[in-house]
Amino acid sequence: MFDRLAEAYGPQHWWPAETAFEVILGAYLTQNTAWKAVERSLANLRAAGALTIAGLRAIPVEALRELIRPSGFVTRKAPALKSFVALLDAEFGGSLKRMAAAPTDALRHRLLALPGVGHETADAILLYALGHPVPVADEYLRRIAERHRLMEVPTGRARYESLAGLTRRAFAADPASGQARLFNEFHALTVAVGKAHCGRIARCEGCPLAYDLEHAATGAKRTRR
Ligand code: SF4
Repeated sequence: MFDRLAEAYGPQHWWPAETAFEVILGAYLTQNTAWKAVERSLANLRAAGALTIAGLRAIPVEALRELIRPSGFVTRKAPALKSFVALLDAEFGGSLKRMAAAPTDALRHRLLALPGVGHETADAILLYALGHPVPVADEYLRRIAERHRLMEVPTGRARYESLAGLTRRAFAADPASGQARLFNEFHALTVAVGKAHCGRIARCEGCPLAYDLEHAATGAKRTRR
């Protein structure tokens, strides 16, 4: 399925950002929000000089709320962003490079303890901003996994880890050194097919994964044509 998506959509060049810190801001702001709205918030932050660690550290939380208003949930997101910078300063000397050098599990645990950071946000930061080899799962992957009968997707707290585990297992045989790149590309591709075809309603006609779905439905072995 990865090969089919890569063939259909080509390299995705994720994450759409100029710096690692911009990736982190985007990962927070995109929660429950369309990316178009995030882009407006990021443009506001850029214009106000707050798209850097120093800029975000300096800006009062009230002003930050106004700048990110297009992304919604500002009373939660603005203090959450401030908390990230506070963690960066307190434990990593204000350096994303130092943060990135921390062991993956410990760092994930630390990020998940921050306000406003769930599994998807933590893993997006780890993978796309800090270069750690962790898969990112989301609602698009959940739909594909269920519709293609790749697994029984559990409800509740087990859901995220199950979907992440599905991705991890799919790439387990690939060299460890290339897994961050594969996880990066795979998540971007599932978002691409999700937006184009696999939303709340599946539009399977013309979808790059239609062949796989057909064979999942008939129970036939899934092989490449
Ligand atoms: S073939 Fe249908 S179910 Fe499968 S990814 Fe495409 S739209 Fe979704």
